[in-house]
Order: sequence, then C-alpha cells, then structure tokens
Amino acid sequence: MKIDPELRLQILEKVGIYSNRFSIPEPKTLLTTKEVLEMPREMTEGRRTSAYKYYGVSYLQHNLVFINVRKISDEKTLENTIVHELIHLRFPYLAHGKRFNKLVRQGLRGKTFSAYKKRK
Ligand SMILES: [Zn+2]
Repeated sequence: MKIDPELRLQILEKVGIYSNRFSIPEPKTLLTTKEVLEMPREMTEGRRTSAYKYYGVSYLQHNLVFINVRKISDEKTLENTIVHELIHLRFPYLAHGKRFNKLVRQGLRGKTFSAYKKRK
C-alpha cells in the first residue's frame, strides 16, 4: 500500500483504538523504513536494517512499533499486522503460536483486555 497522509491518519487512529481496547499505552508508530532508520540506534537494535522484510516489528523495550505499509497489499493484512504488533505489546512474554494467534483473532473481533500486570 502506498502511504499518504490520509492512510497515515487512519492507521494511527486504529493503533489508538486497539491500544485502548488492549489497555496499553499508545506506542510510537513508524510507518516507513526511513522512519525506522531515523530512530536512535539503541531503540531499533536487532531489527533495524532488516525491518523491511517484515509486515511489522514491535520494539517492546521502547513501546515502539513499525507497520511496514509498503509491504502490505490490502486492508485486511494491514489490520492484522496492527493487531499482531499490539498483542506483542500487551502480552510481552508470549511467543508466536496457537495462543498468540487466538489473541490476535479475538483482538480483531473487538475483544478488550485488562491491563498487563507484571508478576512479582
Ligand atoms: Zn510477531
């Protein structure tokens, strides 16, 4: 998809809505690889020059996500990617897998999640 100001706004709006539903602070959201490269190195370490390969990347330590709009071809994949990355932020301990995918599906359907509490 080609990023323009309107699409940018739409995406940021969605990030806002889902962040609310998932009870997470709204992350800073990057939408181009250029923006990834412009961030301080320590924030994007490990997924910096490789970010373009992925639909999305979450930088958990920095409450930062990258949605690779250019690589994404349709609305559905876009929505999926947004929810996928935000589920990473809400469930930082959870790896990819069945449970993760289930949470993404629930998120897409509008489910809300209470705030994440670190176990002591
Ligand atoms: Zn992931």
